[in-house]
Amino acid sequence: MAMQGDDGGDKLSINPVFVRPGEATSYPKDRFPQEESLPSTAYQVVHDRAMLDGNARLNLATFVGTWMDDEAVRLYTEAFDKNMVDKDEYPATAEIESQCATMIADLWHAPDPDATIGTSTIGSSEAAMLGGLAMKRRWRHARTAAGKPVDKPNLVLSSAVQVCWEKFCNYFDVEPRFVPISHEHKVLDGFELEKYIDENTIGVVAIMGVTYTGMYEPVKKIAAKLDEIERDTGLDIPIHVDGASGGFIAPFCQPELEWDFRVDRVVSINTSGHKYGLVYPGLGWVVWRDKTVLPDDLVFYVSYLGGDMPTLALNFSRPGAQVLLQYYLFLRLGADGYQRVQQSCLDVAQHLASGIAAMAPFELWNDGSDIPVFAWYLKDGASKNWTLYDLADRLRLRGWLVPAYPMPDDLSGLTVQRIVVRNGLSRDLADQLLEEITSQVAFLDSLDGPMPRDGKTTPQFTH
Ligand SMILES: *Cc1c(COP(=O)(O)O)cnc(C)c1O
Repeated sequence: MAMQGDDGGDKLSINPVFVRPGEATSYPKDRFPQEESLPSTAYQVVHDRAMLDGNARLNLATFVGTWMDDEAVRLYTEAFDKNMVDKDEYPATAEIESQCATMIADLWHAPDPDATIGTSTIGSSEAAMLGGLAMKRRWRHARTAAGKPVDKPNLVLSSAVQVCWEKFCNYFDVEPRFVPISHEHKVLDGFELEKYIDENTIGVVAIMGVTYTGMYEPVKKIAAKLDEIERDTGLDIPIHVDGASGGFIAPFCQPELEWDFRVDRVVSINTSGHKYGLVYPGLGWVVWRDKTVLPDDLVFYVSYLGGDMPTLALNFSRPGAQVLLQYYLFLRLGADGYQRVQQSCLDVAQHLASGIAAMAPFELWNDGSDIPVFAWYLKDGASKNWTLYDLADRLRLRGWLVPAYPMPDDLSGLTVQRIVVRNGLSRDLADQLLEEITSQVAFLDSLDGPMPRDGKTTPQFTH
């Protein structure tokens, strides 16, 4: 990482096959090269280095899309150069962006999709920050109008939130109030919520698809608890739903579940176009219920076809191609296509979960029926000589990335292992993985002493 720069003297040697006459045979590793290279030489070096990145198909750790069809790739190459912020130069892309936001608002049952406001972002992280900022600003306006202090905003969220919410609180000076999870309350479900909420609470985050485990938080139940709190205290607390994954699963596969704008307290929702929206990395969405919940003083106006267009974003320039890819998929798949794709992921996830549940040492945390993601842990005393970290290492030797990590508070003593099923993990591949897990467990069980430790600390959860 650049922040920790090493000695800087290292050289990156170039395969002699690709060194052209007169060219250097190496590059400085992390210093700016002085001389030019031929494009083909530079290409080969970057190509070869990127090859070490591993096989995305076997990466069951990530939620992010790694495959699109040929027509999408063609569109992508036609649109590489589009800059989302240049609404005036790319008015068609800008119009498609706002149409996509409205389509998503409709998908999420906004009472009047045409009255919503939304934007694409670089991912759910930026989208979540914008949702959080709107709640913070709205709280501040109300407090200021009431002549009350505005120096101690807080946000109530599960201890299992994705790191983007910790960043939001840190970067924008909001006190995070983490509600711990437990075996009894596996997700934020409203239990003891009143203990965390006061007049300085800007909102509550509900997660549709907890990153650690894939479970949904019961948005309607949380809202009902907030109704009770309002009756008792007069505090009217809004909900932002982090639907990074579930935003593109629930509408298609659990249409009866009320988690979105059907719940009155939900003021805004974010999702990742590049997760189950099925687009290549670099796309998120955030939509507000209506224009009244997004304070106008957060909105900037850029010129657009001789007029003004509202924008709200942390970045200025950012790629526009992903927005076109999202629109392409909306047209190509429609609701039926999304339903088929997501349901097949759910089927594979539940097939894998039942296979793992059938193995003696394991206990499921959840079964992959919310988003196609599930986690499991070791039964008490199930293994004397190995841990889930050892199993993750053994699977990695065979190319499979199946991460193990500690749960957040109050369960930080519990290690789980998680599988994220994405489009492309077929039932056949899933069966091969189950066989691999079975044989690695047999190997680990056959050890007559503990697996050696390399003294490194155990991994932390990072995504
Ligand atoms: C992945 C994820 C995020 C962050 O999304 P990016 O699109 O990677 O920025 C936020 N919240 C949840 C629940 C997630 O799973």
